[in-house]
This record gives sequence, structure tokens and C-alpha cells, in this order.
Amino acid sequence: MSIPVSSSQDAQEIRLREVCKSYGHYQVLNNINADVSRGEVVVICGPSGSGKSTLIRTVNRLEEINSGSISFEGKNIHAPMGAAELNRLRSRIGFVFQNFNLFPHLSVVDNVSMSPIRVKGVSAKVAREKAIALLHRVGLADRANSYPGQLSGGQQQRVAIARALAMEPPVMLFDEPTSALDPEMVGEVLSVMKSLAAEGMTMLCVTHEMGFARDVADRIWFIDAGEILETAPPEEFFKNPRHPRAQRFLSDLR
Ligand code: ADP
Ligand code: MG
Repeated sequence: MSIPVSSSQDAQEIRLREVCKSYGHYQVLNNINADVSRGEVVVICGPSGSGKSTLIRTVNRLEEINSGSISFEGKNIHAPMGAAELNRLRSRIGFVFQNFNLFPHLSVVDNVSMSPIRVKGVSAKVAREKAIALLHRVGLADRANSYPGQLSGGQQQRVAIARALAMEPPVMLFDEPTSALDPEMVGEVLSVMKSLAAEGMTMLCVTHEMGFARDVADRIWFIDAGEILETAPPEEFFKNPRHPRAQRFLSDLR
């Protein structure tokens, strides 16, 4: 299966403007301004509790915002909309969770084919064929009839990626997709992500895998205490971080 890459010249796929979010009095996101271009791979990094998950979750409206705007393909994601429109929007922005979130009572192939059938009205036969092709792609065609509980964490996460891809989203969001995995399984998930990036997928990834960030990201966003303090290409960010807090973050990793 090929990933649809739009040829539109409107390079701004996602645009965040003055985004603020609080939980009660606690401000988690503080005036976030950032853009993601079509085909760009952004890695979001920063200390624990800095707002990375909250930020990425606002992009497909798993979290509401208090003020500002987030647009995707020129439409305001946080405008009032009905459930059907919200579902359609979500189906255009794939999300991969730290803990896979597969449906435990469904087989692997049913996990992958369910949304195209339910949300897009694709026939069961076509959805299944496509699911098998996607499972091939993530190296798990032989596990189509297994259940999530019979798979390793790395395999479950690859199924979760296949499930998101089944909706043919132009954008994929990843929230620490490898942090729940045993170390020996991290590579297999990162390599699937790498191949997606190479095919031109627009990706926003929260990860602590700095090797992946260095090799695959077009741009790093460094976030601390709900603010994006620095955005830079990885070679610049890792060699010569400008913000003192980015410098401290990187030196703590070493
Ligand atoms: P990160 O992903 O960078 O670790 P999060 O976005 O998960 O950070 O959280 C940012 C801050 O918001 C943390 O201090 C966290 O405790 C707080 N927070 C996250 N979710 C909630 C919530 N549902 N209610 C209250 N506070 C929350
Ligand atoms: Mg998080």
C-alpha cells in the first residue's frame, strides 16, 4: 500500500496559534505557536510533565484547549462540530499511544480493519485485504489471527501503527510509542516509523529516542513547562542548543 502524499503547494499542514490550556489553575500549555509542514517529521522532546502529551493530544482533539487555534488542512480543529465531523477529522489524523490501546477481544486483523468498516463504510472483504497488506508492511502478516494478548509489546505497537494507517491519514501522531517496550523491541517499532517518514508521512512524534530524533526528524521542538522554548533542525539542536533549559535537558540525557 502506498501512503497518499498530497501534492498541494499549501505547505502548512498543521498550524498552532496562541494555544493555551489549563487544568484548573494549572496552565499546561502556554501560548504555543508552531507549524508542521506537509511531509515534515517533528520530534517533540522535553522533561517529564512539560506538556508534550497534552500538546499532541490537542492536535486531534483528544484534549480541548482554552484559547488559541489549531488548524489542519486549513480548518480549525477546535471549532464547534458534531460527532460525525469530529470522527471524520480524527480519522485523518492517526494517533499511536504509549500503551498501544488495541481492542483485546478482537483479533489483530479485526483491530486493523474495524475503523475502515465502521467509519468509512468499507466492505469487510476489502478492509480485511487491506489490513493484511498493512500487517505485511509492519512484518506481522503471520499474526493476523492472533489476539493482542498473544503478542509482544513491540508487535502490539506495530499492529497499532497498522491500525492507524488503515484510515489512510495524511498525518500521524505518536505519543512515546516505544517507552512502554522492553529495550530489545524498541528498534522494530522505530524502524516502522522510519519507513513511514521516508515515504513522506507528516509526523509529530513525542519520544525520548534521541537517535531517532537525530536521524529522522526534520525539526525538533523543545518544550518545557508548557512552552516551546526552541525549534531547530536536529543537527543544530543537538550540537548547539540555544536555550539554557534545552542545554540542561540534553546534558542530563548524557
Ligand atoms: P508530558 O507528556 O510532557 O509528560 P503531560 O502533557 O502529560 O506532560 O502533562 C503536563 C502537566 O499537566 C503535568 O504536570 C500533568 O500532571 C498535568 N496533567 C496532565 N493531564 C492532566 C489532567 N487530566 N488533569 C490535571 N492535570 C493534568
Ligand atoms: Mg507524556
